[in-house]
Amino acid sequence: MSQTGGSPRAGTVKQITSHANPVVKEIKGLVAQRKHRTQSGLFVAEGLKLATDALDAGWTVRYLALGPDARDNPKAQQAAAVAKARGAVVLEVSTAILSAMTRKDNPQTVVGVYAQKTLALSDIGTADATVWVALDRVRDPGNLGTIIRTVDAAGAGGVILVGDCTDPFAVETVRATMGSLFHVPIAKANPEAFLDFARNWPGMVVGTHLEGAVDYRTPDYREPVLLVMGNEQQGLGAETAAACEPLIRIPQAGQADSLNLAVATGVALYEIRRPHLTL
Ligand code: SAM
Repeated sequence: MSQTGGSPRAGTVKQITSHANPVVKEIKGLVAQRKHRTQSGLFVAEGLKLATDALDAGWTVRYLALGPDARDNPKAQQAAAVAKARGAVVLEVSTAILSAMTRKDNPQTVVGVYAQKTLALSDIGTADATVWVALDRVRDPGNLGTIIRTVDAAGAGGVILVGDCTDPFAVETVRATMGSLFHVPIAKANPEAFLDFARNWPGMVVGTHLEGAVDYRTPDYREPVLLVMGNEQQGLGAETAAACEPLIRIPQAGQADSLNLAVATGVALYEIRRPHLTL
């Protein structure tokens, strides 16, 4: 974990003992409500591993709250030193305050507040990526977090959130990414802009659909692939499905109507990435 970029003004260390402290209230608001995250451009990620991931990947950290256990932990101390050198405010707090901030009975002993980062469609470069994943109105934070983690593991380029999606910076989503949020680029697009983007995509635009005519194991995937996944309840919108060729299907044998969105994304993504992945 090293200091990157120029030399921002060093931050400070503050001890907070009161639940009524404005910073405690601010962090509670970021955990509880999307409105606060959107207005401030900040979000909360729990745990030392995520703090280390964020700092290593050069994300801007605003606050790093350390509970009593973290104050004797050399890795937490190192993270706090780096965060402070980059201008963050390090907060020394009790377990009860960490618990109140994160609304958890057994809170992690390090809680960070970071600046959000998303891309516009025009920022997406396809030169290095073999596949990007587009999610049509994903609603479930656990699904989104799991997909971000899977995109990271499979070595895909990133995730495009199309239309009205769940917040990638919600605390439940961030938890489910297990740190991959800090390594996977995320873009946001409205449906019209996405359709235009898909029409100009240089490779294959592959839709996943329960009525897809093509077995997902059969196409010769022409890279870069844009893999488009549907909403949990409604599947792919008709216009979006029409922009995809082929529409692939993952065969099913039992009584389940469909696969879970994150599972279907993993299965399709690993097939597309198969030629690039070795042990
Ligand atoms: N009731 C929805 C429908 O009719 O499409 C089910 C949606 S499913 C839970 C969510 C998404 O996962 C789908 O839109 C599709 O992208 C993907 N998916 C799930 N099972 C699939 C399968 N067997 N083949 C292809 N895609 C699948």
